[in-house]
Amino acid sequence: MPDKSLANLVEYGRHRLSTLSDTDSAKLDAQILLCFVLNKASSYLLTWPDKKINEAQYQNFLNLLERRVQGEPIAYITGTKEFWSLSLFVSSATLIPRPDTETLVEQILSDHCESHLSCLDLGTGTGAIALALASEMPNWQIDAVDFNADAVLLAQKNAENNNLTQVNIYQSDWFRQILLEKTFDVIVSNPPYIDNIDEHLSQGDVRFEPKSALVAEQQGLADIIHIATEARKYFAEQGFLLLEHGYEQSAQVQKILSELGYSEIKTVKDLSGNDRITKARYLLKNR
Ligand code: GLN
Repeated sequence: MPDKSLANLVEYGRHRLSTLSDTDSAKLDAQILLCFVLNKASSYLLTWPDKKINEAQYQNFLNLLERRVQGEPIAYITGTKEFWSLSLFVSSATLIPRPDTETLVEQILSDHCESHLSCLDLGTGTGAIALALASEMPNWQIDAVDFNADAVLLAQKNAENNNLTQVNIYQSDWFRQILLEKTFDVIVSNPPYIDNIDEHLSQGDVRFEPKSALVAEQQGLADIIHIATEARKYFAEQGFLLLEHGYEQSAQVQKILSELGYSEIKTVKDLSGNDRITKARYLLKNR
């Protein structure tokens, strides 16, 4: 690698990463890592293709490339991930926020235009869903919980970094620490929903993510059942539940919600056209 120009390094990185993913994402990953090393925006690479980097930056770039070659997710290497309009810190304590989960945020915002509303995000991880909602609806009363204390600290840090400290973030194993006298208009969760024997768990980025955020008992449905069951105690007159789930789980999730007395049950597709979210309404008279 004699020429350490930016254009050459991107090409070298793309080539090095080409066994891992398709050409486009290999190139994008190489660009992200190079920008991370230089602490520059991606436009810098296009503006200064012939610029050379120094030896320390070069060694750093090679190290990061190597970590990526070993499969480590880009977001864990750079420690950040974009979600909605926010830049979020990520760590191995949490799932990396997915674009698919933005569908959940979109759905809540299109269903609820009330300026005041109370919302609970269960298993918030980085805080992605709760913070995205707070960024759009500054007057909503939003609670966000996670059972993992490191995730709680991370979500709080993300709230501060994005000036969204109105979100109330605390430790709770699902509803355990949530006072029963509290009620919410909307309860949302992207819970673990992957079956323990799912082959995807041994492929790609998920290999590096915490199993506790990915895997659930009962073919991946145990936490969904728990949340849908308990949520009914935390609605006032009525409430809305929105759950992310696996692309093959919509029929089962709909059945679970129906059996628990929810109505207006509807599944929404994600950006790739897969069933990803099921939402439902719960009316107090059903209790
Ligand atoms: N959608 C993620 C995946 O399939 C899983 C997210 C989750 O379990 N909540 O990789």
